Amino acid sequence: MLETRVQISAAPSVLLVDDHSAFSTTFCNFHTTHNNHIPTFIREFMSLVNFYASWIFRCPRWIYLKLRYPEKEIIDENIKKMGDFGERIAKEFLSRKYRIFHGKRRFLEFDEFRIVGKADFKVLTPQNSFEIVEVKRVKRLRRFPMARWIAQLNLYMAMESISSGFILEVSDDRIRKGNWRFSKNLFKKSVQYYRDVKEMMDNGDPMMKRSECWNCSYKHLCEGMW
Ligand code: SF4
Repeated sequence: MLETRVQISAAPSVLLVDDHSAFSTTFCNFHTTHNNHIPTFIREFMSLVNFYASWIFRCPRWIYLKLRYPEKEIIDENIKKMGDFGERIAKEFLSRKYRIFHGKRRFLEFDEFRIVGKADFKVLTPQNSFEIVEVKRVKRLRRFPMARWIAQLNLYMAMESISSGFILEVSDDRIRKGNWRFSKNLFKKSVQYYRDVKEMMDNGDPMMKRSECWNCSYKHLCEGMW
C-alpha cells in the first residue's frame, strides 16, 4: 500500500492518496466497435437494446424502468453536483502525473444487446502506456471499492482494448487510487448479467434487488407496478 500526500487547490484540505492492489488476467476476444465510425441514421435504425456499462449489477427492475421510462426518473440534483465536483478534483489530480483524454462513447455488440459507455478518462502514463480511469465521488471511503465499480471499469477496458486502469474514489478529504487489470472472468460475468436481465425483461418480470430500493430513482414508479 502506497500512501502519498498531495495538495489540491480546488479542495479545501490535504488529500490522502492510497495506491492499492491489482488482480491479473488476460484479454479475451469479442466484438468492439467505436461508434463514431457508424453514421447516425444507421445507429438509430438498429434496434438492439443498449445497456450502459454503468448499470452493471444494478437492480434488473431499475434497468427495465430506465429503458422503458427514461423521462420518469427522479434524479437527485445533489448527487449529480457531487459527481461533477469529484470529476473536477480527479482531473486536477491526474493532470499532475498523466496526459489526460476524456473518454469517448464506445460499444460492445452481442447477439441481442449492446453494452455502451464512456470512461471518465483515458490517461497516458509516464511509461507511455494508456490506462482507463473511472472516478467515484463518495461521502467516505469504504474498505473496498464496490464490485460494480470494478466491473464497470473492466467493461471500459474491454471497450478501449486497454488492459489496465484505476478507480479514483474522491471523498471530502481523501483520494484513493485502486489499480486493476482487465479480468476475462469478470467480463464474462458482466455479459451474462446483461443477458439474464434481457431475458427477464422479455418475460416481463425483472427481478428486484431490494438492497438498492432505499435510494432508487424509480421507487415512485416501481412500487405500484408489480
Ligand atoms: S425500488 Fe427497488 S426493486 Fe424497484 S427498481 Fe428501485 S431498486 Fe429495483
